[in-house]
Amino acid sequence: MGGNPTTQLSFPKPGIALLTLDNPDRGANILSQSTLREIEQHLDALSGQEIRGLVVWSAKPGMFIAGADLGEFVASLDSPGDHMASSEAMCHRGQQIFRRLSSAPYVTIAAIDGICVGGGTELSLWCDRRIVSSNARTEIGLPEVKIGLMPGWGGSVRLPRIVGLAPAVQVITSGESVRPLDALQMGLVSNVVAPEQLVNSAIELVELESQQMFYLRDREKWSMPVHMSPTELAFLQATASAVIAQQTFGNYPAPVVALEIMMQSALLSIDEACTMEAQGLAKLFGGEANRALLNVFFLTDRSKKDSGSSGPRPPKLQNVGVVGAGIMGAGIAAAHLKKQTQVTISDSSSEALQRGVRTTLDEVSFDRATKSASPAKLLDHAPLLRSTNHIAELAACDLVIEAVVEKIAVKQQVFEQLESAMRPDALIATNTSTIPITHLAKSLKHPERFCGIHFFNPVRRMMLVEVIRGPQTSDATVATAVAHVKKLGKYPVVVQDGPGFLVNRLLFPYMNEALVLLAEGESIEAIDRSAKKFGMPMGPLELHDMVGMDTALYAGKVMSDAMPDRMISSPILSALVEAGRLGNKSGSGFYSYKNKKGKRALDPEVTQILKPHLRSNSTSITTEAMIGRLFLPMLLEATRVLSERLVQDARDVDLGLIFGIGFPPFKGGLLFWADRLGLANILKMLEPLQTLGPRFSPTNYLKQLVERNETFYKNSLSNINR
Ligand code: NAD
Repeated sequence: MGGNPTTQLSFPKPGIALLTLDNPDRGANILSQSTLREIEQHLDALSGQEIRGLVVWSAKPGMFIAGADLGEFVASLDSPGDHMASSEAMCHRGQQIFRRLSSAPYVTIAAIDGICVGGGTELSLWCDRRIVSSNARTEIGLPEVKIGLMPGWGGSVRLPRIVGLAPAVQVITSGESVRPLDALQMGLVSNVVAPEQLVNSAIELVELESQQMFYLRDREKWSMPVHMSPTELAFLQATASAVIAQQTFGNYPAPVVALEIMMQSALLSIDEACTMEAQGLAKLFGGEANRALLNVFFLTDRSKKDSGSSGPRPPKLQNVGVVGAGIMGAGIAAAHLKKQTQVTISDSSSEALQRGVRTTLDEVSFDRATKSASPAKLLDHAPLLRSTNHIAELAACDLVIEAVVEKIAVKQQVFEQLESAMRPDALIATNTSTIPITHLAKSLKHPERFCGIHFFNPVRRMMLVEVIRGPQTSDATVATAVAHVKKLGKYPVVVQDGPGFLVNRLLFPYMNEALVLLAEGESIEAIDRSAKKFGMPMGPLELHDMVGMDTALYAGKVMSDAMPDRMISSPILSALVEAGRLGNKSGSGFYSYKNKKGKRALDPEVTQILKPHLRSNSTSITTEAMIGRLFLPMLLEATRVLSERLVQDARDVDLGLIFGIGFPPFKGGLLFWADRLGLANILKMLEPLQTLGPRFSPTNYLKQLVERNETFYKNSLSNINR
């Protein structure tokens, strides 16, 4: 960070001070220690002056304050000394500066346009009034629980006193932001105005408040403990705990600690409540979940900043084509429409095309708040969607993403047609999940403008997109694809071509091991339960049902052909396919879904199908051992991916697994988890598994890391992105 000031004090009118936040070195305003110092100095400068009010605002449109400087937090995590004491001191320092806003001899107003989260929200909460702009980007939130922490600069103290304990608990324990109109209704802000009127409205409010002095009444009220009867408190405690337990499965301590602190501190004085808040944050700071979630935050931050390739700024793609209007094609088209990009969707079958258009429009018009189709959203998006049965009509597209059936010949024919119709500088991409890009590129005259853009199913939910680079793909193509994926609000990870690319390559050893365990006599429930205990959103056998047994069989064959020594083709999959049990789509797979609600249920019929393939009936292994069996082959495969340099580094692997398959964020990622466990310990865990075959053999990559006493992440957390 340079020494440039990030804040400025001015006087737009006599007696009215304006504190402007505008970090010249960053796109966002961040509350670093030096910015806090600047704010403190401005408050010092004002203390000797006769002023009626202070307005705090940001000169960055759509960006008030994006929170505290997490890099500084993490640096203190890695520094020697007492973390608890230093984090408590950090809290007290912020509280002490911001509290001055609630006791100044003038009215203080936060004028918020755009993103206001974390420390930014806390600063605004200590002000006497908050007014916000009606900008679609405006949000006020305290998302600390999402990085395994709780507010530490007074957010948990002020919010309950301003809006009431129950809404404050909801905001802080969920970490979800509040939109302007909801904030108004909640009493969190006093006014919502157009962005261009924000500062003037704030100045008018200073004039009004300095005459009427209503803010002094609120100052008095908000300095008191919250009023709630013991019955109301008990009810809130019970309901909030139940919601938290249901959402976190006991894996995320932060909301629990935040609730506990808020329930107690709401009944105390401001001083006592501030002390308690600092202790609560210190209790969470540096814990396993906090470290892991901070890592996830830095992984996503890096993904946002990384262009995937060097070279000039890629062009913006305005007009996108999608060939194949099936499950993936419709999802990809919808993802584009949601970002206001014009899409032409094409399919060789008129029926499939009609269905695809309907699915796309259903998705973009769905309103989460009302849980139904919104005519306004439909009207907004529908004009951007075109459909055609003729690939030639995609000639004007800047990019076409192919999502037709997984057959090489069909795809190659599509590419030929696209290449002859499209401009020479336009991009062609494939959404294939198993066919090597190198193979598909063979039919192209200009393979340099071709790459994989591999979305995951369902596209609306899965944040990861693999950008697959073939040997002839140009840097410019990769950079354009990466920038485009980011524009869709997804996380791209650039992967060199290879079987299963990144995510499926790592997923298959895990899914395959579940089949081996099944053949050893472990039960379906015990296997799935172990994976869920580890934190996976669903078990590997449930996942087989979701992916489809036929698809898993086919993709599994691709993987076992590529790496026959460690990917065993299980006869169980073929048996289920033969029995017509294809998974959710056919109503049954490892489980049955044929009951009224289509809910997953155990099915005795499967036992009969599995019987001929069982090698033993003993169920002797513990959940812990089962977790090792499932995740160690995945980990070893990840070391091969790293040694083959298929991705940049360990962080790409972790980003891919968290956002591609739902690897538990509270573990920070597969390789982050392994680092925390200790790589020498991983080698020890592998020792007794050597009889099971080469898929459990420690790789040279892993052994070398252990010999050199290194970790996958090598550098400490504080070195990420800095
Ligand atoms: P799908 O069967 O739902 O849709 C394929 C569509 O392609 C059909 O509508 C079909 O009519 C159309 N089509 C076939 N030949 C065509 C041609 N010559 N020209 C134009 N359209 C043609 O398949 P899907 O699940 O959407 O998969 C599409 C691609 O995405 C495949 O390559 C698949 O491997 C990949 N993929 C699938 C998933 C998944 O979970 N389904 C996930 C990631 C990637």
